[in-house]
Amino acid sequence: MRRSLALACLGVCTLSGLLLCRSSSADDIAERAKKLHFSSIVLDTHDDTTQRFFSKSFDLGKHNPDGHVDIPRMREGGMNAIFFSIWFDGRIMGPPAVQKALDQIDAVHENVLKNSREMVFCRTAEEVRSAHAQGKIAALIGVEGGHMIGNDIRVLRMFGDLGVRYMTLSHFYNDEWADSSTDKPAHNGLTDYGKDIVREMNRQGIMVDISHVSDKTFYDALETSKAPLIASHSSCRALCNHVRDMSDDMIKALAAKGGVIQINYEKSFIDQAYKDASEKVSGGVVANFDQLKKACGDDQECLGLKMAEQERQATAEGRLPHVSWERIIDHIDHVVKRVGAEHVGLGSDFDGATMPEGMEDCSKLPKITEALMRRGYSDDDIRKILGGNTLRVMEQVEKVSRELLSHQ
Ligand SMILES: [Zn+2]
Repeated sequence: MRRSLALACLGVCTLSGLLLCRSSSADDIAERAKKLHFSSIVLDTHDDTTQRFFSKSFDLGKHNPDGHVDIPRMREGGMNAIFFSIWFDGRIMGPPAVQKALDQIDAVHENVLKNSREMVFCRTAEEVRSAHAQGKIAALIGVEGGHMIGNDIRVLRMFGDLGVRYMTLSHFYNDEWADSSTDKPAHNGLTDYGKDIVREMNRQGIMVDISHVSDKTFYDALETSKAPLIASHSSCRALCNHVRDMSDDMIKALAAKGGVIQINYEKSFIDQAYKDASEKVSGGVVANFDQLKKACGDDQECLGLKMAEQERQATAEGRLPHVSWERIIDHIDHVVKRVGAEHVGLGSDFDGATMPEGMEDCSKLPKITEALMRRGYSDDDIRKILGGNTLRVMEQVEKVSRELLSHQ
């Protein structure tokens, strides 16, 4: 009896010791992760916040009650570098497309100037690093869809001058020279003019973004480009079979040329059960977008709010499954297991997509660093994933541009 009591006591003491030990190491990880996260460059390559600049109720400098991104929440989440996306419906082409793109590029510059105490416009990796050293948020521009150059390569050069640092070759619809993943093939990938545009992007130091494009367009761009490519907001097809995501073969080919896939947090791109259910509920991403567009016209804010409301309702009624933010980590891990930690980054699609539970806005980003640390990732690898990899591609793209411009 005494012996069993002693054993029981030993058991309890050892157990409590273990628990103590465990909780102190758990706290240690949380603390280390926080330090690492808030001392790193956390660069998100795709945010649709630009659309909100046209709404009177939105203020980038204040904490807004809705949406995913503003400066106070960026500070809270340690997100200190952002690509503001320039985007509108890919069926608008020609001069009206150029005009709309210029309106949005101007809106980014004006909003950055208005918040110049906190934010600075950046054109190079070095400028992003220097913004970070000064404690400022780096703001960059990506154009989401080749339709915005109005089928005119000279406009691409002007975009470069205005600070555009990547262009997605298409959006949901084919443009004049590139096939989209969500449209019927019309060009067998990139046309000859499309290949000239990729070469000109290399010359201008504009990253070639292959999110949204068809698989054939991706392989054509990969073969044509002298610089590494990015997928600014795509996830892994092996985990969620969506055409907007990349197959393992594509990820390997992208990595072999030094590129980076930046993981998109959109629920229907990261979770198979959600993707299947959303196709039943609304016919999938493109059909749903078209339906909402009929109700909202060109009012992008209305589109975003209606999308969020529709999604909330369908989840509450059980027609759409719950998706945890941890799926984002699964996608990052999938890429790392196939091609290493040098070829993956963050491309949330904040303010343009439906976020998984636990990643309600950019203030939740430190969870990603902590989760990666708990999965045994080194500090070095985590820093690369948070932003270092994208900065490396930017530097390579800048180098290729310098070489091409000096040999003409
Ligand atoms: Zn997109």
